[in-house]
Amino acid sequence: MRSFTFHPGPTLLAGAGRAGELVSNLPDGPCLFVSDQDIVRLGLLNDLLAAMQEHGREVMLFDAVEADPSKDTLLAAVELGRGAGVQSVIGFGGGSPMDVAKLAAYLLGSGDDLDSIWGVDIAKGPRLPLVLLPTTAGTGSEATPISVITCEGGVKLAVNSRPLVADIALLDPQLTVGLPRHVTAATGIDAIVHAVEAYTSARLKNPLSDALAREALRLLTGNLVTACTEPENLEARGSMLLGAHLAGLAFSNAPVAGVHALAYPLGGLHHLPHGLSNALMLRPVLEHNAEAARELYAELAPIVDPKCEASGTQGRVRSLIDGLERLCVESGLKLRLRDHGIPQDDVPRLASEAMKQTRLLVNNPCEISESDARRLYEAAW
Ligand SMILES: [Zn+2]
Repeated sequence: MRSFTFHPGPTLLAGAGRAGELVSNLPDGPCLFVSDQDIVRLGLLNDLLAAMQEHGREVMLFDAVEADPSKDTLLAAVELGRGAGVQSVIGFGGGSPMDVAKLAAYLLGSGDDLDSIWGVDIAKGPRLPLVLLPTTAGTGSEATPISVITCEGGVKLAVNSRPLVADIALLDPQLTVGLPRHVTAATGIDAIVHAVEAYTSARLKNPLSDALAREALRLLTGNLVTACTEPENLEARGSMLLGAHLAGLAFSNAPVAGVHALAYPLGGLHHLPHGLSNALMLRPVLEHNAEAARELYAELAPIVDPKCEASGTQGRVRSLIDGLERLCVESGLKLRLRDHGIPQDDVPRLASEAMKQTRLLVNNPCEISESDARRLYEAAW
């Protein structure tokens, strides 16, 4: 047996209407709820808040989390929690509220200084009990030990450490029913990219992350278009949520690579949503990797297209790349950089920014040089 290490995720509760079960899993004392204003306005928190009230539990609601949450936002959530003496934290929303909740629970429980824990496996202290409920099927943040925060000068810093893995993740498809189509599409493609990049990751992939990535890809690619065209289809919504979670477990172990490395500058410099940025760079990066990753891409092709009739490896690689692009198009995303206001003369700046993503580039099946990156952005333009 080849030696490998696999890190599991949180205890998983899946199914509609299980919010009440969470209450009995929380310790006594006030609980910090971390969410955002859209979630509150849509009333998505109501069932859980009612269950808390029914059990006489005090809730401190912090609903000021923005997209790409800032350090100030995180520290404000921590201050609210500390002032109230909270004994547990619930993160409720997309990737942003969950990322803030994870770090807030850690900072409240450990008393560590935020600036001393950036990076991989540096945070080692205790954290408060932590529950996460995703309302998008994309980031898989409820499954991972990673939290990304926007710091001074717009620089994104991450804490990636086992104590950030939640105690419980609750997947309730009902919470994702109200997502607008373009968010369903973009977040779904993000999860698909997590699965593909975990499966082809140059480091740390292992039989368990492979199994999770394959099943994630099956669930996600088989249900994305239905979730977009029939937003109230709970079967499709549930499959997307589970697929995104499994992809999160896969990439917590086998980290993502080139697509994410080239997507990040589109978010950082042009504020494109993370999932959309990944969709834009997906085909160019897969084409770049097609030779180095051909065996692995060929293995994934029949998952994306169960009727795939291509026989040889090359045919299957084509089938995978075309199949994933078709899904992006059918889900309604526009796939050119110029469709999203990116000027062509920005390509050199995007390429030089992408080179800073060394922690992701090292996981790619083959090297991406700066001139490669320029060519790939040109191809996407
Ligand atoms: Zn992602």
